[in-house]
Amino acid sequence: MTAQLVSTDPATDEVVATFDVHSAADVQAIVARARNAAPWWRDQGYDGRRAALLSWKRYLAKHSEDLVQLMHRENGKPLTDARLELMLALEHIDWNAKQAGRVLRPEKRRPGLLLSNFSARIEHVPFGVVGVIGPWNYPVFTPNGSIATALAAGNTVVFKPSEFTPAIARWYVDAFATANPEAPEGVLSLVTGYGDTGAALCRSGVDKLAFTGSAGTGRKVMAACAESLVPVVMELGGKDAAIVAADADLARAADAIAFGAMGNSGQTCVGIERVYVERPVRDAFLEELTARVSEIRPGSDKAASYGPMTMPSQIEIVRRHVDDALAGGGTAVVGGRESVGDRYIEPVVILDPPHTSSAVQEETFGPTLTVTTVESLDEAVKLANDTPFGLAGAVFSRDHADEVVARLDTSQISVNSVLGFAGMAAMPLGGRGESGFGRIHGPEGLREFTRTRAVATQRFPAPINLLTFGRKAWVVRLLPRLIRWVHAR
Ligand code: NDP
Repeated sequence: MTAQLVSTDPATDEVVATFDVHSAADVQAIVARARNAAPWWRDQGYDGRRAALLSWKRYLAKHSEDLVQLMHRENGKPLTDARLELMLALEHIDWNAKQAGRVLRPEKRRPGLLLSNFSARIEHVPFGVVGVIGPWNYPVFTPNGSIATALAAGNTVVFKPSEFTPAIARWYVDAFATANPEAPEGVLSLVTGYGDTGAALCRSGVDKLAFTGSAGTGRKVMAACAESLVPVVMELGGKDAAIVAADADLARAADAIAFGAMGNSGQTCVGIERVYVERPVRDAFLEELTARVSEIRPGSDKAASYGPMTMPSQIEIVRRHVDDALAGGGTAVVGGRESVGDRYIEPVVILDPPHTSSAVQEETFGPTLTVTTVESLDEAVKLANDTPFGLAGAVFSRDHADEVVARLDTSQISVNSVLGFAGMAAMPLGGRGESGFGRIHGPEGLREFTRTRAVATQRFPAPINLLTFGRKAWVVRLLPRLIRWVHAR
């Protein structure tokens, strides 16, 4: 009998749905189907794909409340958060559908003096079949960032969702087929299971693999893909810092940081986990922050600010980080160890934990925040940059934001806000260091899911033809002079 994966509601443990655990052979068969569908999808061209993607988008929007309810049940997030997540995903599908043809159109290149009898162009061609492995925290928006982009660029896609959110993924994938009944099977497919199924996808012969998840799993995915030199894009974790300068609008900073840190139960790759605040405004900022955070509470009712922890094993990590920060001398200014429950975690804010504590150095992925007092913006930047991650960050300042932006070693930065970049379909998203590499979203994301093809066309025979064994003697004699004339001046 095929092994089964049971997905449950993290608020109640009720069963949401049951799925097959796909074996390596199952994954191979599904990838083979995606490969058969690839020429059809590629040949639709940008106009055909735009029509199919927009029809999928309209279907998702028309039936959005069904999907939103499912997101609430299987992931635990409040309905409003689920709606916001879906809205952002729809924006990205729309943008990719409409912009792929413009971004990926062939580009002329200069052939150069030596080959001036040629015309030269670059084409951006789809890889073929792209595998996408996704996490559970934003179960639609996050994988969609790779899926919609890879599809718009002309690839077929096989998607392996997290074991915690397969029902949401099933709904999202089926919606594509329902909205596009003329499309052959395999344009967008699903494989379900645990880590082994993801590993099987890496080894299934896909032409590119887009992974979003933790750095630890990212290493395993890269190792599996390396066996067949499958190129990868890695969207990994973060430890994002917000810097609050002495000239910041403190009320605005506190409001944004409270949302950036606690929203989605802190289970956000680009969520704020650390704050560095300049000493002169530290107390005033803390007052604003604690006032806002004290109004936030987890739950599954309509008024709850965020839901339960989606992945039970994460709770122990949050507890360890809180313990470590407090044991090292940090002061809990909101909540404390007792805030970490078995299902829900109340907000925790810890002041001045040691820089070396796990709460400051490792991804916590819970509704906790460390606040560190600094003597200058220089010190803030130095400490903010001193983790292995480099995903995103934020700066709050009236006059010094650009100085901080120039020195913060992350790939996305918000000024006087948080998270805005992720909602802008035209902006790229990616990391450095333990936060990964490559880009999804925006023009950079579209190019990530294509390979370039260089086409050089000889328009007429050149008098100086070097690309032949029949080179004239005078051409060969001319060459040393040509080198000096062109390059030695
Ligand atoms: P994991 O790394 O645990 O899992 C990610 C995916 O990889 C899941 O689908 C998982 O399957 C699968 N997987 C597990 N083992 C393997 C394996 N050996 N080979 C192939 N695939 C495997 O991450 P989480 O799901 O816990 O997601 C949270 C992480 O994602 C956080 O670190 C977060 O920061 C990061 N993230 C990054 C984003 C970005 O854009 N940079 C965006 C969102 C999240 P299964 O669940 O079945 O084990």
